[in-house]
Amino acid sequence: MKNIAVIGSGTMGNGIAHVFVQNGYKVSLIDISEDSLKKAVATIDKNLGRQVEKGTLTKEVKNQAIANITTTTFLKEGVKDAELVIEAATENIDLKLKIFREIDENTRPETILTSNTSSISITKIASVTKSPDKVIGMHFMNPVPIMKLVEVIRGYSTSDAVTKVVMDLSVALGKVPVEVNDYPGFIANRILMPMINESIYSLYERVAGVEEIDTVMKLGMAHPMGPLQLADFIGLDICLSILNVLYSGFGNPKYAPCPLLVNMVQAGHKGIKSGIGFYKYTPGSKDLAVADRFRK
Ligand code: NAD
Repeated sequence: MKNIAVIGSGTMGNGIAHVFVQNGYKVSLIDISEDSLKKAVATIDKNLGRQVEKGTLTKEVKNQAIANITTTTFLKEGVKDAELVIEAATENIDLKLKIFREIDENTRPETILTSNTSSISITKIASVTKSPDKVIGMHFMNPVPIMKLVEVIRGYSTSDAVTKVVMDLSVALGKVPVEVNDYPGFIANRILMPMINESIYSLYERVAGVEEIDTVMKLGMAHPMGPLQLADFIGLDICLSILNVLYSGFGNPKYAPCPLLVNMVQAGHKGIKSGIGFYKYTPGSKDLAVADRFRK
């Protein structure tokens, strides 16, 4: 396998493209936004440059990697030679179904179709294609060049052969793949999101403050980052939407999002991306200060 198409060049798409070109694959990077494509290539260039400075990558490999990226805003053109497509566009089910119909029509029958979705059913996505057996989840973690895990999600109809190709490919990228079945939240978010939600409930019920909750989990459970800081990093809107997928998917009230989380998202306090969540973020500053409303 040599030719990969990556759809969506945002946070995840550019990280995924980075890892593939660094490992010698050719990547066709596709986005509806020219601006996003330009930024993605600049980010990959900068991040590969850092690896060269650190001595973990040679300049030749970096130059070859950059030469292996092509960009386009035309999906049909971008996917036509791909042996494997990774969709990493905005997390929206209607958008993903539309993209998969289009990829299915414009790729060869043997092309493997994967999605980096955090929470949308792979089985549902596969259902709009002609061959649901070759559709599979390839859930990379953020930041992709650093995080080792790939959660490989088998849809209801995904074949053993396609699963093996994607598991082996993940290893070839230097990652550690883990095979899971397609149920709401898969494994990563099914376990992570209830923990984040429970941390928010603990704050909402005034069991403890922001720093106290995060400190208990960092020092007591050896988590590198507390759950409230992690929620800010992921984006509180994303956390809310994944909890809603778990809640509706299982029909179990234990997944109901905390009303404080709902309020924060409605108020536009979405974490790092909006400058404020449980903590406030000052551009250029690495200090972590609790948001004013949660200060004692
Ligand atoms: P993002 O908003 O940073 O990027 C999404 C990109 O998709 C944008 O550049 C947008 O222009 C592009 N896009 C929208 N519609 C498109 C279309 N029709 N064709 C091509 N490109 C299109 O989002 P992200 O954080 O990179 O998330 C992408 C996917 O990865 C989502 O499914 C998300 O659930 C998943 N994911 C995100 C994270 C994370 O931490 N951010 C982690 C794991 C998985």
